[in-house]
Amino acid sequence: MKSHGKTSCVVVAAGRGARAGFESNKVFQKINGVSVITTTLRALEASGEIDEIVLVLSKDDFNQYDELSKREGACRLIKAIVPGGSTRQMSVLSGLKKLSKDTAIALIHDGARPYITKDIIENVIKDVRQFGSGVISTPVIDTIKVIDEDGFAVSTPERDTLRAVQTPQAFWYDQIMEAHVWAVENGISATDDAALYEKKFGKVKLTASEDASRNKKLTLPEDFMSSKYIPIVPRIGTGYDVHRLTEGRKLILCGVEIPFEKGLLGHSDADVALHALTDAMLGACAMGDIGKLFPDSDDRYKGISSIILLKEANRRIRENKFRITSADITIVCQRPKLAPYIDMMRENVANALSLPVSHISVKATTTEKLGFEGEGLGISAQSTATAIYEEEAL
Ligand code: MG
Repeated sequence: MKSHGKTSCVVVAAGRGARAGFESNKVFQKINGVSVITTTLRALEASGEIDEIVLVLSKDDFNQYDELSKREGACRLIKAIVPGGSTRQMSVLSGLKKLSKDTAIALIHDGARPYITKDIIENVIKDVRQFGSGVISTPVIDTIKVIDEDGFAVSTPERDTLRAVQTPQAFWYDQIMEAHVWAVENGISATDDAALYEKKFGKVKLTASEDASRNKKLTLPEDFMSSKYIPIVPRIGTGYDVHRLTEGRKLILCGVEIPFEKGLLGHSDADVALHALTDAMLGACAMGDIGKLFPDSDDRYKGISSIILLKEANRRIRENKFRITSADITIVCQRPKLAPYIDMMRENVANALSLPVSHISVKATTTEKLGFEGEGLGISAQSTATAIYEEEAL
């Protein structure tokens, strides 16, 4: 067995996205704007520990990967892309066969574990050098039960004696090849390479790393929606609006009719607070402004409730794959006192946007009788809103 030579990695991504409910291979899904497979390959490359990679993909995915690597940049460590086999075990074997013959240590890694780190890679390699194998593992958090065929628990192993294994799994290249060939010849199958090695050579070294807890295999839809370790940066928008106070109009702020001797003048119901909010939302998504969406010149909007305009703007925002996540509104107004209506305003906005009330803030302030708001000539409102772009969130 060679102890000097390349450190090579087989990345297995030949599965389908069935469990995650995706139509195509889940490794093409994006996390933070970059595909899972590219994220995984970049992490392997960035570790500086790997000399070459053989990527195993389903043959149907070759074209899609080709286009993707042109868009996101090809990984310079890739030596070959090979088609997967009928089982994971066969896929790994076709990958192993393609590694350079001067490979000393072979790592096998799931394409759907993009959060692999340098520490994990270093530690499995160190264990191969010392113990002949290194398989990343984590302590088990849940209590595990052994069940019978009717689904009854029949025994409870001590949790301290259990480990959950992940990938990378690393071995001397000659040995893991030998184990695989032996398995094929003897019709032996196993769910991972550690189990094959165990059957052929005995004990496998389980490698610990502080990073193992985040080295998650992305499987369920929610795994793709957020990633705790690479935060999704929200888009932020601001909005500002002013309407004149005049007699003979209703005063409506955030959809709440407030008893007062004057109301705001405007083409719609002149809800200055919702206009500022709508502009903030459109601003966060770089989708123009309220005047562009609902022109004053259009009679359809005459006297219309601004709640309807807000909902329509939000519908278009959703259509453009953005999602509003929070909003803050400040209403600048000398009279009347708005404090009694704030909670109702927050509820109205939250309902219109289908968001929890806790994500919506409405505040009111005076200007110490200064300026047009202070003199009671008009009311102004300012707003900020945050949005996420769903393509990035997924
Ligand atoms: Mg306005």
